[in-house]
Amino acid sequence: METLALGIDIGGTNTVFGYLTPDGHLTNRTVLPTLAREGGERLMGRIAEQALAMLGAAPVPVAAIGVGSAGQIDPVTGTCLFANANLPGWTGMQIRARLEQATGLPVTVGNDANVAALAEQRFGAGRGVENLVCITLGTGVGGGIISEGRIMTGHRGVAGEMGHIVVEAGGAPCPCGMQGCLEAYASATAIVRRARAALPHDPASVLNHVEPLTAKVIFAAAGGAVPDPLAERIVAETAWYLALGLASILNMVAPELILIGGGVSLAGEPFVDRVRAHLETWAMTRGRVRLALCSLGDDAGVIGAAAQVLPAPTLVCGGTDR
Ligand SMILES: [Zn+2]
Repeated sequence: METLALGIDIGGTNTVFGYLTPDGHLTNRTVLPTLAREGGERLMGRIAEQALAMLGAAPVPVAAIGVGSAGQIDPVTGTCLFANANLPGWTGMQIRARLEQATGLPVTVGNDANVAALAEQRFGAGRGVENLVCITLGTGVGGGIISEGRIMTGHRGVAGEMGHIVVEAGGAPCPCGMQGCLEAYASATAIVRRARAALPHDPASVLNHVEPLTAKVIFAAAGGAVPDPLAERIVAETAWYLALGLASILNMVAPELILIGGGVSLAGEPFVDRVRAHLETWAMTRGRVRLALCSLGDDAGVIGAAAQVLPAPTLVCGGTDR
């Protein structure tokens, strides 16, 4: 009988559930609003309730539950060490203990960005690659490191916070409290902030007439038939800052492949080409760079959550050069 895992991806806006087969097939994908403002206890209750309902309705018995959660997650204890204001009352939540108690099944918990990287490595753009880094550029910048086919968790599970690599000493303030972090330059939020700051000095830019101003709009204005010079500059700077951050990652963990995901990645291959061009100019990163876009989109979280509790597929040949 085929094994199934139940995956649960807990985010600040939505919580996604689904069954995953060992070959990466996601079924019965179910999205519930997280309703974070109701607090951690209520959220835990709703998650346990939905998990029980899905376990009861599963087509074959579910072997285990894998959870990916926003926040700093200790994978050893399955506890949320810290969650920001997007998930009030989630700090200290004993996710694993509570779900094991409710369902009687073994539960594994990881950070959402880390498990998304695992999903890309098992079933997405990084399939068959043993050492990869997945960086997600969205409202913030997050990521996960897969080392020899496994999530690199670091002490207490907080490795892979690559959004807080400093790319500009004494630079723009970051939500983490530091200055000059990659997140403060390359997140969608930061791209819009940098454009807004430049607009008063560039009254001719088409961006003056766009509301709401989003990263997507800025990338579109830079990539049009007649590129807007201001948008073009913002995109070029973003690629530069991202390349600086990726250079640090490359020199530190030497991945075979770097995958770029999140909303900013919708800018696609032309943006990836710009980043790659910078990395190819530096002696320590030249020729070592394989950059690509993530391929699983929003489902990477729930797929990776479940993938934590499924056996890793046996690779015919690790580190394939695709
Ligand atoms: Zn930071």
